[in-house]
Amino acid sequence: MRRVTIFGSTGSIGENTVDLIARRPGDFEVVALSGGRNVARLAEQARALNAGLAVTAYPDCYADLKDALAGTPTEVAAGPEALLEAATRPADWIMSAIVGAAGLMPGLKALEQGTTLALANKESLVTAGPLLMATARRHGARILPVDSEHSAVFQALAGEDIAAVERIVITASGGAFRDWPLAALASATPEQAATHPNWAMGQRITIDSASMFNKALEVIETHEFFGIAPEKIEVLVHPESLVHALVGFRDGALMAHLGAPDMRHAIGYALNWPERAELPVARLDLAAIGQLNFAAPDPARYPALRLARQVMETGGLAGAVFNAAKERALDAFIAGEIGFLQMAEVVAAVLDRVSRENRLNTAEITLDTVLQFDHLAREEAAKVIRGRKKT
Ligand code: NDP
Repeated sequence: MRRVTIFGSTGSIGENTVDLIARRPGDFEVVALSGGRNVARLAEQARALNAGLAVTAYPDCYADLKDALAGTPTEVAAGPEALLEAATRPADWIMSAIVGAAGLMPGLKALEQGTTLALANKESLVTAGPLLMATARRHGARILPVDSEHSAVFQALAGEDIAAVERIVITASGGAFRDWPLAALASATPEQAATHPNWAMGQRITIDSASMFNKALEVIETHEFFGIAPEKIEVLVHPESLVHALVGFRDGALMAHLGAPDMRHAIGYALNWPERAELPVARLDLAAIGQLNFAAPDPARYPALRLARQVMETGGLAGAVFNAAKERALDAFIAGEIGFLQMAEVVAAVLDRVSRENRLNTAEITLDTVLQFDHLAREEAAKVIRGRKKT
């Protein structure tokens, strides 16, 4: 029996992970599950999987979770410290699927036990890539990518020499507003942005797909995880979301990974690695699909991609600032405080302000400096947002 823990089990990635594990009773022992405010669902999952521990990130949700799990053998805990304690409990495979920078610390803690970390939480790599990778190396832990593009690259690289890679191309659907006139974007609402043409995902990542902040995070994630130079990473708009990524080698060969837009592909690959097990995902019928389309992203429509380049050129703590500013700007957009296009303006302004006062590329990347710059960027973002509020 493999021991598994799922951080963020009540979210979109978490539910897909639970689904795969629940289909194979007897193969897995569930050490711990974590959620946020969706206590009812967390309790249901804990009962169904007979989890050893269920943790809610919020102390004020403790009593509800305790009640919901009364009479079961599942231990109950709450709060950030409890999340970290859960990450120290021995497990062979740990899914990191909390959304946002909140996923960083449990992921780091998990790596310290030298386990395999299935990493969906891209924000960890963006904010603290060098720290995360060094922690994994130091403790003999392994990180397996779960983002579909990075899983695709990882699979295309199997058995290859990374030195022979000429370029990595990650694809983007173009999000909810791909075909909208540019002028209409200013008045786009959070509800409109939270519908994805191909993927069913959490609200935040879906809005980030519409703005391409998600792809911007993924470009940085590619750079950090595979150690590939920024100029070798390309983004291609591919409306069908069937080709997830391509790896180009120095002999001109281009290896593409195709699959249905179902996150159980990438989660299942990480869960079964290094083997391939049967997965309950649709098989592509290319004859029926007929054609695949590709286009270069329009820089005017997707300013987030330019900001990602700026972050990689600056290096150091620029990723922590970028991610925190983006998270704060997204909160403000969801709350109706700023417009859709203003999210990129806020992030650009914060990067500018913070880098004017601080040398982002020289400060050592430690958990302390990452948290310090994350905090600073959120404060700066709040100031910029106050100055730009919609009237
Ligand atoms: P969701 O919003 O669907 O789920 C997020 C999970 O994190 C939930 O379990 C939520 O709990 C929990 N959570 C929220 N805030 C906190 C917090 N402050 N502390 C601890 N736990 C918290 O997100 P997704 O599943 O869409 O995404 C998860 C991660 O995976 C993100 O980093 C995303 O970028 C990445 N990812 C997602 C993909 C997808 O298809 N969804 C694809 C590739 C990557 P609750 O709901 O109970 O409040």
